[in-house]
Amino acid sequence: MSKPVRGKTIKIICACGCGRKKMVKITDIKRGWGKYFSKSCKAIDQEKRTGQFATYKNRNQKTVNGIPIDDNYLGITDQEHEEIMTDSERGWDSHKIW
Ligand SMILES: [Zn+2]
Repeated sequence: MSKPVRGKTIKIICACGCGRKKMVKITDIKRGWGKYFSKSCKAIDQEKRTGQFATYKNRNQKTVNGIPIDDNYLGITDQEHEEIMTDSERGWDSHKIW
């Protein structure tokens, strides 16, 4: 077994809903990358956006920048999570509804 990557890498659950997990750099997530396990997953997710699967079942799941995070994985601390959310809010002002 290779030793686990520490620090600024977290395990994401593929955004397409296939349930596969992957290690992604937090810096990549901030750029909007690393949402999918593979390119085919991205294609699947884009198909869903046409309306076929408009409702996501994991609404209450912990996310970073909208990307579902494996709850059982402790590679990211609450503080890091806060940092990411705070950082991402800068560009989201126009989307705020509260
Ligand atoms: Zn997938």
